Amino acid sequence: MSEGLPYLWLVLFVAALVCVSAGWLWGAAWLQQWRRLRVRSQPFPRAWREVLRQRMPAFRTLPADLQLQLKKHAQVLLAEVPFIGCNGLVVTTEMRVLVAAQAALLLLNRRAASFRNLRQVLLYPEPFIVDRAQTDGHGITDDTRRVLSGESWQQGQVILSWPDVLAGAAVPDDGHNVVIHEFAHQLDQETGPANGAPYVFGRAARQRWAATMSAEFDALGQRLARGGDGLIDAYGATNPAEFFAVTSELFFERPQALASAHPLLFRELSSCYRTNPLSW
Ligand SMILES: [Zn+2]
Repeated sequence: MSEGLPYLWLVLFVAALVCVSAGWLWGAAWLQQWRRLRVRSQPFPRAWREVLRQRMPAFRTLPADLQLQLKKHAQVLLAEVPFIGCNGLVVTTEMRVLVAAQAALLLLNRRAASFRNLRQVLLYPEPFIVDRAQTDGHGITDDTRRVLSGESWQQGQVILSWPDVLAGAAVPDDGHNVVIHEFAHQLDQETGPANGAPYVFGRAARQRWAATMSAEFDALGQRLARGGDGLIDAYGATNPAEFFAVTSELFFERPQALASAHPLLFRELSSCYRTNPLSW
């Protein structure tokens, strides 16, 4: 028997394996696209529309084309992402729709109809307590207990306190919205651990993003050190990831104030989110 034959079989086997894997991956992506198209072609249920009308005043301020986009993105999120009630909370349609619709604000004008890593949304009936070891800038670790209204994990979980979701939606112009905050973290976490650097297309744009965000982050730290007042909440100075999440809340809820006080920051957020709330 020729010595070349086993080698030939190995090559054929590897080629077959590559073809099957590529076919499987392509098939899975195609199936997901097909399912999403089917979900998006369904009418937006009247009961869901009623939730937006009663609970999300920000929805009414959107131009008609963005309202339609938001509803389609929300439909995909609701079809794909399980919502889990914690501490005895029974998850209702109102809860699911209000979370999905606010999260969908961050997806406007994007081709991706969902958050890439998102696996589950966990809802609590009140702000929840987490015990966690935290290491400060000097390397000293401390066990801390914190009460949170929301959290986002890189493994794809978003955790929210329902009363805070409701309150965030009810007042659309105070710059505080836990859903926008936590889903901004999800976008950030698509590129690795949250660090305030979500995906931005193009090398030059990424450099401009990094330069602007770090200058604005430093300016916030200096302002707080001086004890001065300003638009951006002190929590944004925690780290660059929180800075991105906190300024995202302002971008969607207080665009006029953010654009006039921090025009460069506003421009970067506008290109990241592919929309300009000043024109709504
Ligand atoms: Zn945060």
